This record gives sequence, C-alpha cells and structure tokens, in this order.
Amino acid sequence: GKGAAMVTAVAYRLTEQARQIQQTLAEFRMKVEIERGLKKDSHKDATVKMLPTFVRSTPDGTENGDFLALDLGGTNFRVLLVKIRSGKRRSVEMHNKIYAIPIEVMQGTGEELFDHIVHCISDFLDYMGMKSARLPLGFTFSFPCHQTSLDAGILVTWTKGFKATDCEGEDVVELLREAIKRKEEFELDVVAIVNDTVGTMMTCAYEEPTCEVGLIAGTGSNACYMEEMKNIEIVPGTEGRMCVNMEWGAFGDNGCLDDIRTTYDQAVDENSLNEGKQRYEKMCSGMYLGEIVRQILIDLTKRGFLFRGQISETLKTRGIFETKFLSQIESDRLALLQVRAILQQLGLDSTCDDMSRRAAQLCGAGMAAVVDKIRENRGLDHLDVTVGVDGTLYKLHPHFSRIFQQTVKELAPKCDVNFLLSEDGSGKGAALITAVGCRQRELEAQ
Ligand code: BGC
Ligand code: MG
Repeated sequence: GKGAAMVTAVAYRLTEQARQIQQTLAEFRMKVEIERGLKKDSHKDATVKMLPTFVRSTPDGTENGDFLALDLGGTNFRVLLVKIRSGKRRSVEMHNKIYAIPIEVMQGTGEELFDHIVHCISDFLDYMGMKSARLPLGFTFSFPCHQTSLDAGILVTWTKGFKATDCEGEDVVELLREAIKRKEEFELDVVAIVNDTVGTMMTCAYEEPTCEVGLIAGTGSNACYMEEMKNIEIVPGTEGRMCVNMEWGAFGDNGCLDDIRTTYDQAVDENSLNEGKQRYEKMCSGMYLGEIVRQILIDLTKRGFLFRGQISETLKTRGIFETKFLSQIESDRLALLQVRAILQQLGLDSTCDDMSRRAAQLCGAGMAAVVDKIRENRGLDHLDVTVGVDGTLYKLHPHFSRIFQQTVKELAPKCDVNFLLSEDGSGKGAALITAVGCRQRELEAQ
C-alpha cells in the first residue's frame, strides 16, 4: 500500500502552475473538439463525436407506466422493472437483479453476448412472474452509438472491457430483438436505446428541472447535455434542443493531448483492448487509474527503485491493481502521513493523491468547457445549471468529487454549477425515456 502511494505521488508531481496551464489547455481544446463534432463538415473526422440521442426534452412528471430496463456497460449488468406513476403522488418503484457477464462472454461473439443478455432477462421475468406481459423496454447501453432515432443505435466501437465480435457497425437494438426471437420464450417492445449519461441526466431532471447535463465518472468517463438543435448540424431542424451524447472519452485520440500524456499513459494505452482509442478516458476513469499505477510500479521496479528490482508475476497481470485500492490508500490517513514523511526525507514535498488529482482535474476541465458552452449558447453572462452525476469513481473515491468540482468552479467562473448525485440513473432514466418514447408513438399513430 505505502509503496504504491509513494510512487504515484512521485510520478505525478507537478507544480501548481504547470497544473493550471494543463487544465486551461484541456478546457480550451475540449471546446475546439466540441465544435468539430457538432459541425457537418468536420463531424466525420471528429474525435469527440457529439452523438444525437433523439431525447428532445427532460421529463415533465406526466410519465407513467411499467417498463423494463437493461443496464449494460457499467460496473454491473442489471435487469430492472421500473414502475412510474404520474399525478399528484408521483412515484418511481424499482426492482432489479444483478447478473455477471463472464469475461469470455464480454469478449466472445456478439451472438453469445446477446443470447446471454436475453437469458438474464428471461430469468428476471420468471423471478418477477411477468413472462407474458410484453413490456416496453429501455436499453441502457453505455457505449458510443450512432442514433438515427430513439430506437436505433449503431455501435461505433466497443470501449472499456468489451470486445464481442460482429457488433461494431451493427444496430444493437436489432441484435437484441433478434436474440429475443431466437429464444422464443417471451416478447418485448424495445422502445429506446439510452447512453448512461443521458439516463443519469433524465433521472436527476425528474427531481430537479435545472438539470441539463449528465456526467459519468466511473468505469468509463463521458458526459451529455442539452444542445441547441440549430448547432447539431447533422440532424435536420433548428427548433428547440436535443440531448447530445458527447463521447468525450475519445478526446485526445487525434493527438491533441499528447503534450499532457506521460509515458505511463502510453503504456496503459498500448496494453489495452483498444489501443489509440479513448485516450482521455484512460487518463480519468476508474477502469484505468489502477493500470496507470501498475505501469508506474513496473517502471520504478525495472529501474531498481522498488522491490529490489524484481517484477512479480502478479504485477505483470493486467487489471490487477484495482482502482478501489487507490481509494483505500488515499482514505488511510495514517498511511498517508507516513508516506508523506518518507517522501520528505527523500526531499520530495508532495501530496499523495496526485494521480487521482490529475484525473479529477482533467475531468473538471472537460465539464467546465461544457457548462460554459451552454452559457454561450444562451447568450448569458451568468448561468445556473445542475449536473446529474453517477459513477463509482465519483461516488466512492475520497477526493475525486471535491477536486473535480473545484476545477469546474475555477475554469468556468461565469457558471454556478450544482452537482446532483443520481440514484440509479441508468435504470430509472432508461424507463423515463421509454415512457416519453411510448407517448410520442401514440401521438404519431393518431
Ligand atoms: C463509453 C460511453 C459511456 C462511458 C461511461 C465510455 O467508455 O464510450 O458511452 O457513457 O464509458 O460509462
Ligand atoms: Mg452505470
């Protein structure tokens, strides 16, 4: 524990001034990439894709009905039943079950993956005694998808730990429908495909109407917000707003963060399932922070500073250093004080949370660009806005949220940003979006 905290501190020590320069650069560059993603001419080659979601408004409290929701792509895979009631005594009731997705399924064939998902749905429906209900379903699928409507999403690329074959370039709603057909056990009506950021925003907006931004700082990293239709050039129409799934995890994939990336970031990237992709995500999300620490340990061991120069087999294992260990190290005040004392003896005056600090600051720089963009869109000198947040890194790490918020405040001084933790954003949000989708359909049918 101590050794790890010590080396993370050493490797990521930067002066405050250097940090501020990096943050400001990151914010400015994010703004540039946002524009490239939104504009018709540059969209195709843009790294920050700014994907339209076909969610045109936040909930208004009239949503009603029983819905199924799936949540795939976060820490756990879950199937949920969500009962939403409108009217004076608005309420949302949820039942859910967590299912494991074995690594060989995550990285097997697409057919195996979707058969497994449908198998879990089947088990859940049995468990709830609802096999014959033909419920509308919202599919929270936390990966980049090109949407042409609420219920169509072509997977751009897998991210995080997934790599199932024959899915990229396919409409994942169709893949799900086909798997349900193959099973021949029950029918479902897949109404919406939802990114987890959008589900989180919608869940928070249900309680707090000023919520127009969603953030995930968990296994992966991403944000969404309500953008003006006139700025979303790849979707026809100029009236009103639409939620845009930014896919900011890919920020830096064109090299624009190279001067900030270290050799450890490069090593993490080279060792990952998706080399060259999601470079920003690899610097600030839960799935990779532990990997960065592992790379630092390997390097310092190779150079003879640690473990008498012997790299253990365990240390060679990808993913062995879980990010929750970082949270633990940084929560342990006594160990921290000891580490700090050792560092001082070595002439290194530093804090021990530098690694996670960089992650929180980089992520904060991205968020500052977003809220300031919303402010500019509306021609305001001052913006009050709420950001709905979910994700294990944000919720469980002892310092991430504080440093993140402080960074947003410093970099976007004209915005007053309120952060709201979402309770079960992916499930509830998917159900809310599905409710709106069902209503829209009824209107169109009239
Ligand atoms: C995905 C996003 C998702 C984020 C958080 C990223 O890897 O590309 O779609 O929102 O993780 O789960
Ligand atoms: Mg999630």
